[in-house]
Amino acid sequence: KAEKEISKPVLKSAKLANVCYDIRGPVMARSKQMEEEGQRIIKLNIGNLAPFGFDAPEEVQQDVILNLPNSSGYSDSKGLFAARKAIMHYTQLKKIAGVTIDDIYIGNGASELIVMSMQGLLNPGDEVLVPAPDYPLWTAAVTLAGGTPRHYICDEANEWNPDLQDMRSKITPNTRAIVVINPNNPTGAVYSDETLKAIIQLAREHSLIIFADEIYDKVLYDGVTHTSIASLADDVLFVTLNGLSKNYRACGYRSGWMVVSGAKKSAQDYLDGLNILASMRLCSNVPGQYAIQTALGGYQSINDLVAPGGRLYKQRELAYQLLTAIPGVTCVKPKAALYMFPRLDPKMYPIEDDQKFILELLETEKVLVVQGTGFNWPQTDHFRVVFLPNSDDLTEAIARIARFLENYRKK
Ligand code: PLP
Repeated sequence: KAEKEISKPVLKSAKLANVCYDIRGPVMARSKQMEEEGQRIIKLNIGNLAPFGFDAPEEVQQDVILNLPNSSGYSDSKGLFAARKAIMHYTQLKKIAGVTIDDIYIGNGASELIVMSMQGLLNPGDEVLVPAPDYPLWTAAVTLAGGTPRHYICDEANEWNPDLQDMRSKITPNTRAIVVINPNNPTGAVYSDETLKAIIQLAREHSLIIFADEIYDKVLYDGVTHTSIASLADDVLFVTLNGLSKNYRACGYRSGWMVVSGAKKSAQDYLDGLNILASMRLCSNVPGQYAIQTALGGYQSINDLVAPGGRLYKQRELAYQLLTAIPGVTCVKPKAALYMFPRLDPKMYPIEDDQKFILELLETEKVLVVQGTGFNWPQTDHFRVVFLPNSDDLTEAIARIARFLENYRKK
């Protein structure tokens, strides 16, 4: 009967034709199905901290609970004043000059603002330089907004730093912006000031906007420090994104922000567009906004997790040692974030279709990872591992990956 009711197939918008977000793609759907059938999957696929026992700081949770009675109404479209004031102070600590309350937009996670920032900017034919590998929302957001992502290579042989030559070679008269994900997901790279300055110079020469995704700027290991690229110049337009999801283990609060700085005067029209888009969605989740001021001020408990002996530090060490002990697997040790992006020697592991490869891993070993091409990496020789599961689960998961690869070599 139901079939009769639908006379014409309902098609998705053509705008979505090339939009992909493989982190939550078909392999994850299969994993969900296997779980529903009662199988236990070890999930190394998503940077969602709380399910692995990394909870938002107690005081931040309490603040949201206390403010819930005040959270029933819409806030200003750009966000609560006190929260934006705290973000403004944070930009001062990061040495980003001249940021006012008005330059700050709070959103339902950085994700909403990434999409909004591209929707407000791009016309058909416009190009945006996006890293490969990237956090794939950037490529998807550019495409959805009618633009064309052009991927610049990050060089594994140079600790996954952006290949500046390649970046330069991909600039055309249609290029509007450069996306810099630093610290990087999926590689865990943190860029030097020298590299950041070279990117700024390219933006300066070609009048490009720099979109800086800095959501992991406190998840840093081995004493590495992070520089906000927007702190290094004031004659280029910067849009810096950050939020509570990772540094404060509050992914579910959907609380992120975007800060406009640098050459703002020439960008008034774009900013008017962003204001329209921010107004259209009324405001960001208000309970999540109440967490911002408390999170950003005072004691930063993330530091305990990333210090030697801290849980994130220990799990990074463990995952790195176990993965790189597998024949034919190499990996640049991440300096930041929650991920590793190991390489499989193509001579030992000639993989034609890496999505199929990780689906087989899931089916045979019940371990879920994400294929490298899901991050717009051009070859089928990488995959991403999230090192959030506890040491026992990580050890078990990587042992299963090792067994799967051993069988693959024998094939
Ligand atoms: N940017 C990067 C680099 C990320 O890895 C993620 C989430 O994994 C996001 C942005 C999205 O963060 P949010 O939870 O604030 O939407």
